[in-house]
Amino acid sequence: MPSNQPLRISSDVPALSEFSLIDRFFARRAARAASPVALGIGDDCALIAPRSGKLLAISTDMLVEGRHFFADVAPGALGHKALAVNLSDLAAMGAEPRAFTLACALPRADEAWLAAFSDGLFALADRYGCALIGGDTTSGPLNLCITVFGDVDAGTALRRDAARDGDDVWVSGTLGDARAGLGVARGEWAAGARAAVAFRAALERPEPRIALGRALAGVARAALDISDGLAGDLQHILDRSNVRAEINADAVPRSAALATLAPDVQRRCTLAGGDDYELCFTAPAAARAAVGAAGAAAGVAVTRIGTIRALSAPSERPAIAWRDAAGAPLSLTLHGFDHFHAD
Ligand code: ADP
Ligand code: MG
Repeated sequence: MPSNQPLRISSDVPALSEFSLIDRFFARRAARAASPVALGIGDDCALIAPRSGKLLAISTDMLVEGRHFFADVAPGALGHKALAVNLSDLAAMGAEPRAFTLACALPRADEAWLAAFSDGLFALADRYGCALIGGDTTSGPLNLCITVFGDVDAGTALRRDAARDGDDVWVSGTLGDARAGLGVARGEWAAGARAAVAFRAALERPEPRIALGRALAGVARAALDISDGLAGDLQHILDRSNVRAEINADAVPRSAALATLAPDVQRRCTLAGGDDYELCFTAPAAARAAVGAAGAAAGVAVTRIGTIRALSAPSERPAIAWRDAAGAPLSLTLHGFDHFHAD
């Protein structure tokens, strides 16, 4: 693409050119991540050498101001989250992160903002040895688009279409805190000071479950990361695998902070929240000990919440049957987050 106009900090400060901006805040720091890429930033394309016996896992996620984050969010948290939501997709596939590209539209070249943003971004990238290998930079309304590249052993990728009759359904960590934090920010409900801090951390700094995803590759069957709420996301596994599920709504794990809110708010946040970035996965009952060992090795709690069942007739649609702790059916109308419908 042709270069855009220089990005101006303000009228009395010299313009920071697109190239010096890329160099200072992205290219120079990218060199720190030690990932086995063949050619990084600076040429027309980056080159990645696939490792033998592995498949490349590729995913893109875009973050748009006003839609995915508030205009005044701390830039360090935004840098973290922009990469975290992408790494979460690699985790859900059982893949190991290797590299990423960053395409960004920036309203202005604010040096303090860029420094904090790239600090947050590279702190997470360096932790997972995931190298920034290219991107695109333009002026415009704030928009961040990252593509991640990972690899996974051929045959062990955790696909959405792999759930089978009798599988246990599991989730990692706890669900609902990020949605609770959004509700506090929007004034939908109030929380005590300590709970509010926990909710905000969950919303702004999700931790991609990379170690768990890799430990589950070859153990679990189907998996995905919960970005739009458990109800909507588990439905994707059911649709792709052509099965149904029985889920104990009361078994869905929640944090001590979430347990301080009203029961109906807890249920809404855990089952139909969003921005959780925990893994939901299925595994045969015979793999229970192996799933527990994978969680222990990754340092992440794993909780069994239900069972996959075969459809009883070809006309039956894949769906979730919700039950409470006593096994009584619950009729819940829950929908995952959909950008083209009001939530
Ligand atoms: P092109 O003209 O081929 O689009 P650019 O001039 O946009 O290339 O970018 C020059 C180099 O800088 C390329 O290697 C590109 O991948 C890299 N780059 C541009 N923006 C970013 C960014 N935000 N982060 C990392 N690398 C970037
Ligand atoms: Mg370009």
